[in-house]
Amino acid sequence: MRYVVIGTGVAGLAACEAIRSLDTAGEIIFLGDDPHGYYSRPGLAYYLTGEMDEKGLFPRSKNAWLSLNIRFIKGKVTRIYSGEHKVEVDSTSYLEYDRLLVAVGAKANRLDIPGAEFEGVVKLDHMEDARSILKLARWGKTAVVVGGGITALELVEGLRSRGVKVHYLLRSDRYWSNILDEQESKIIEQRLQEDGVKIHHHSELLEVLGKRGRVQSVRLLDGRTIRCDILAYAIGIRPRVELAREAGLAVDRGILANEYLQTSNPDIYAAGDVAQVYDPMSKRSIIDSLWGPAREQGFAAGLNMAGQKTAYIKAVPFNVTRLAGLTTTIIGTVGRGHDEDLIGIARGDSETWRALPDAIVAQTGFEVNRLRLLVGESKLLGAIVMGEQKLSFPLEKIISSNADISPIREKLLQPNAPIGDIIADFWTTWRTQYAS
Ligand SMILES: Cc1cc2nc3c(=O)[nH]c(=O)nc-3n(C[C@H](O)[C@H](O)[C@H](O)COP(=O)(O)OP(=O)(O)OC[C@H]3O[C@@H](n4cnc5c(N)ncnc54)[C@H](O)[C@@H]3O)c2cc1C
Repeated sequence: MRYVVIGTGVAGLAACEAIRSLDTAGEIIFLGDDPHGYYSRPGLAYYLTGEMDEKGLFPRSKNAWLSLNIRFIKGKVTRIYSGEHKVEVDSTSYLEYDRLLVAVGAKANRLDIPGAEFEGVVKLDHMEDARSILKLARWGKTAVVVGGGITALELVEGLRSRGVKVHYLLRSDRYWSNILDEQESKIIEQRLQEDGVKIHHHSELLEVLGKRGRVQSVRLLDGRTIRCDILAYAIGIRPRVELAREAGLAVDRGILANEYLQTSNPDIYAAGDVAQVYDPMSKRSIIDSLWGPAREQGFAAGLNMAGQKTAYIKAVPFNVTRLAGLTTTIIGTVGRGHDEDLIGIARGDSETWRALPDAIVAQTGFEVNRLRLLVGESKLLGAIVMGEQKLSFPLEKIISSNADISPIREKLLQPNAPIGDIIADFWTTWRTQYAS
């Protein structure tokens, strides 16, 4: 049996591990076009700020790789011939497969304005992007950052920590408006401003101006220009569906896969950021752009490729991240609608977070520590925990287990209710029942 895994990200690696756990003899080919192979992509943010060196991005030891007994091939798959069970690599050679996994991730949306091709215009997608940002930050004095979600802030913070003056442009009136509420956006913006970041609301890029191919300034829609040496953008991502579409696989926003991660062709699987996976609980096909789900989907795909029948059951999306230096945990459904600063989904994002819940909001804390709960009829649908993280773990368990919160629902919804204390007390009793 020959398994070919396209994409050396976390979904691809998890699939290799799962296949090898069931099939010790089969040949596994791990094929990718990133010259650096497998590394932590969320770690790139910490690499930019200098909190992690390049070595730290590669967590796997040589022995761990050897024990997997896989063949690594550097190359870009340029076509999938599903009828002939083979893939074309770098438009020159062919590889046959019995089972194929497409785990090619998502790519950053390109800035589509005049001058976007100038040197000094950057995004944060992979290692080479991070390296070029660091190179530019060595001599660049001023940067303009545009976009939303976690990656735009990672760019802002990375550049600030390298001593670059940053202008952060937001099309809308506040940061990450489809996930955070007004108070939360305000907390983040205030912290950025305290760090010296100049935020421009209702500001949209019109064009990049440059000299000898290098960015010199940006012109905004309202006529203003801002001088800058770097323009960094994070305006959303798009699953890389082209290979699958050309191969005739069913594609929507991502490659459509059933709960076994199988595409419309039974010998081809899809997992991770590129996949739009059917969730039997909600009966919807959902895209996540999160490390955890990519890993879990990859693992389930690998087990199924090796002959098991294991359904991927989507866990409640959960992300612990850092926004303007503030640890923030996002669990379940918390946001609404659409964000003008992003096209499609952002990295470190989940479509479930924005699923318009039929819920009432309970909130507390107006300084750095803030807790917001989305309270449904008898269960919690989502939560955002900013700053103090004592309740993140209990809330993740309460939400993901669909715990019946009827006994505390009315208390949570009282004006000025101490919701943190109410949840902590509920957790103490509920966890004993849950554990037993
Ligand atoms: C800067 C940054 C910050 C992030 N922050 C967070 C966070 O805080 N929390 C979180 O949960 N997630 C975060 N993410 C998202 C997380 O990293 C992704 O969800 C995860 O890496 C997806 O894994 P994947 O294996 O599906 O895809 P990827 O990691 O994108 O891997 C896909 C691989 O396929 C390769 N490939 C593409 N096309 C081809 C081809 N034709 N032939 C061969 N190879 C190909 C690509 O080069 C790439 O190496 C972040 C990502 C980035 C970049």
